[in-house]
Amino acid sequence: MLDQITVTIDGVEIKTEPGKMILQAAMDAGIYIPYLCYYPGMKPYGACRMCVVEVENQRGTPASCTTPVADGMVVYTNTPQLVSLRREIMELLLSQHPHGCLTCHRIELCGPQDICLRHVSVNDRCVTCPKNERCELKDTARYLEMDMTTPLTYNYRSIPIENKDPFWDRDLNLCIVCGRCVRVCEEIRGDNALTFVERSGTSLIGTSRGTSVLQSGCEFCGACIDTCPTGALVEQDYKWEKAAETVDTICPHCPVGCQVKLEVNKRDKIIRSIGHLHGPANQGQLCFKGKFGMNFVNHKRRLRRPLIRRNGFLEEASWEEALDLIAQRLQAYKGDRFALIASPRGTNEDNYVAQKFSRAVMGTNNVDLSSNLRPELVVTLGEELGYQAGTNAIWEMEDSCCVMVVLSNVTEEHNVAAVPIKKAIKKGAKLIVIDPRETELTRFAHLWLRAQPGTETALIGAILRVIVDETLEGKEMVAQHAQNLDALKHTLWRFDPVKVEEVTGISQDRIKEAARLFAPGPSAILYALDTVAPDRRQEYVRALVNLALLTGNLGRPSTGLFPLIPGANGQGARDVGCSPHTLPGYERVNDDRARTRFQEAWGVPLPSTPGLGLKEVVDGIRDGRIQALQIVGDSPNFTNGELGDVLQGLRDLKFLVVQDAFRTGLAELADVVLPSATFAEKGGTYTNMERRVQLLRPALKPTREEKPDWWIFAQIAQRMGGRGFDYATCSQIMEEIATLVPIYAGICHHRLESGGLQWPVPGADHPGTPILYSQGFNGRKASFSPMTLEDAPKHIDPDYPLLLATGRLLHQPERDMEVISGDGLNMVKRDEVIEIHPEDARSLGIDEGDRVEVVSSKDSINGVARLSSPHKGLVSTTLLFGDMAARLEVNPDPDPMLKVPGLPMVPVRVERVSNPWQPS
Ligand code: SF4
Repeated sequence: MLDQITVTIDGVEIKTEPGKMILQAAMDAGIYIPYLCYYPGMKPYGACRMCVVEVENQRGTPASCTTPVADGMVVYTNTPQLVSLRREIMELLLSQHPHGCLTCHRIELCGPQDICLRHVSVNDRCVTCPKNERCELKDTARYLEMDMTTPLTYNYRSIPIENKDPFWDRDLNLCIVCGRCVRVCEEIRGDNALTFVERSGTSLIGTSRGTSVLQSGCEFCGACIDTCPTGALVEQDYKWEKAAETVDTICPHCPVGCQVKLEVNKRDKIIRSIGHLHGPANQGQLCFKGKFGMNFVNHKRRLRRPLIRRNGFLEEASWEEALDLIAQRLQAYKGDRFALIASPRGTNEDNYVAQKFSRAVMGTNNVDLSSNLRPELVVTLGEELGYQAGTNAIWEMEDSCCVMVVLSNVTEEHNVAAVPIKKAIKKGAKLIVIDPRETELTRFAHLWLRAQPGTETALIGAILRVIVDETLEGKEMVAQHAQNLDALKHTLWRFDPVKVEEVTGISQDRIKEAARLFAPGPSAILYALDTVAPDRRQEYVRALVNLALLTGNLGRPSTGLFPLIPGANGQGARDVGCSPHTLPGYERVNDDRARTRFQEAWGVPLPSTPGLGLKEVVDGIRDGRIQALQIVGDSPNFTNGELGDVLQGLRDLKFLVVQDAFRTGLAELADVVLPSATFAEKGGTYTNMERRVQLLRPALKPTREEKPDWWIFAQIAQRMGGRGFDYATCSQIMEEIATLVPIYAGICHHRLESGGLQWPVPGADHPGTPILYSQGFNGRKASFSPMTLEDAPKHIDPDYPLLLATGRLLHQPERDMEVISGDGLNMVKRDEVIEIHPEDARSLGIDEGDRVEVVSSKDSINGVARLSSPHKGLVSTTLLFGDMAARLEVNPDPDPMLKVPGLPMVPVRVERVSNPWQPS
């Protein structure tokens, strides 16, 4: 087959690849063919017929979006016959679509909207369309130079606008049934929340059972809105606003690193967020957080000026006063009485300067991230393989044959990373989910292995044992790049599937099936530590490394390990040294050679003792070791109980500085509060979970006195005599990082303009390619780790003897659900099903179908008992995703997407409700 073929379009000879459609080949060559149902990244559909062309020696007028190119093909896109045909098609469309916007005599002289509204008697003018001037139908009609004296009767559909569901409105009077929304929902997102429906003899868009989208399994990713060519589907917030400017930047909500187009109005407010089609980590996709969670930037409760505590009250002050005060007070706490908690939302530049300030000015390694609750997630990876980072690119998973997702709620926490997984499944890949919780991804799983909680490592060990027994190893990888296999094998004899079946509750057959599915590859592993006890985390990550290494699913495309780190820039923050144990580039603080290099660069002696991590800092505050603290940004971990009562501890500090965009509960305790710029007001870089360094661009002009965090640290440092903090721009900071940190060599803001670079950058001093370990393990061999078979951890709590595993689902069609509208908002009401083990149920006197209450120390939930839990001691239930979305929409927190609740395992007791008629 030829690599390149020649096609002539409108007399222009173009080179293109076989297999492409004519429309795509023309677009690539800069030749415009009008279209409405085609959308980049989706399969050809051929519904609207707007893209018809003529092809020499072919009959008729084929749709160019579904006709493949052929060598020597001659295509015409704009003959009089085609123009006439397209106009007829457009007339048909406009016979059911309001088109006052196209016939208005003021179209070129459009004045203020109120003049128009006063003078126009019909309700279909441009000012009543939320996509005014963003409408592809209008653009296409104008391109066709439509003569609007249409002979067809115009029928207004008179369908009520649906506006009660969270985040978006649907006006089916504006729908042209191009099917883009239905196709993106099914083909790209795998949700099937929307479908074609028939309404009064007309084909339209809706949900399969005529329910609200809350019930139909909508994940509120907004992909349907972004693909809709008209105003039929739109965001509720700022629905009528027009953009004055569009800025490309990065979503600040999770480490997938989706590129977004932020639309900004002329009053400097972010009005819309649209997935960037060329974003390498998201390919046009976003999730509910990136699509609908940007409004925090516009919030009226943003901090405007610095605040200083005077006579017990926080009062506004100038930057000079605040910075002078901090510099003067911090002098007294130099050394290990000071700690700095940085933010995973900070840029690499912010966090590099933060840790430099802590080490070079305050003389301590007490610096960590507020998201770093489970450092073993990546630290163990670094110890085993050399880098504390994921190995491959997210979208390579689209071509994986098997994906294993372990203890992670990907769809909520790293949403767009689930998109290539679902696409791979459509192509035939197998998904293995290891999790006691039922999450959204389990419905796609070929194997859902609900091991007894805490025995996941044993399960991985048994899979390894089967791989060895059946000689399914990746022999080349093992022979060339790994060592210590015998040490592992000597421990695997304990992981006999028969024995492991007893420990985990997973049958031998399923263990063997998992091994046979995963081993041949290419297979990828996504993992988190959501429900792993602290003393088992290291062993668990080692087991996963063993699995990837033994099967050769490392160092080649579509394989690898993806630790699901929290925070938008948790990866980058650690890369540049926001860690108590490592300097920028993961050089250990007690490595004399590395420390000397940084001492020479920064011009000061540096502390050599590892500092305190997040949890230890909180303990240090409680026992008085830490007396002064500087915290950047808010974090759910300050209030979700994971660190205990942090706020109470902070009251005992001698000096507390908080840098934040809002006056949070944390800020209320501070001696000085400094207004930080958000991601939308500053430049810099984020590094995503696939090591891709991407550029943030300021979308808004500063309207308050907020400053980027790197500037704040640099100002305090200079006031305290720190050298090397006189940065004029944040790009200078990246130049310093690239000089000092080998994995960032070759990276500068200028090079990132065109889309981002994965470290280590090819061509830089550091060897390697964007797939880690594709060139071997940097001159050393990776090492297998021996494993120990442990029983399930004992859960002993007389008050709460059972463990509740809560999952979250998009929908549950087999269950009765009802939508209730309270305060103008739709919520889903349904009977919860509480899964409980038959033995537990018997001992509690509970029968199938009894109404029961699950009680934890903080909460309770009421539902109907189903005696189907696979494990004694385990209780399960599922919350509905739509309910969470609805609650987020009305959450009074200025930044609710930062605090999307996780799904921990919670100790509970279950009680039979004495009155069976008590409603849930
Ligand atoms: Fe933002 Fe992550 Fe959602 Fe992408 S997946 S839009 S980066 S929160």
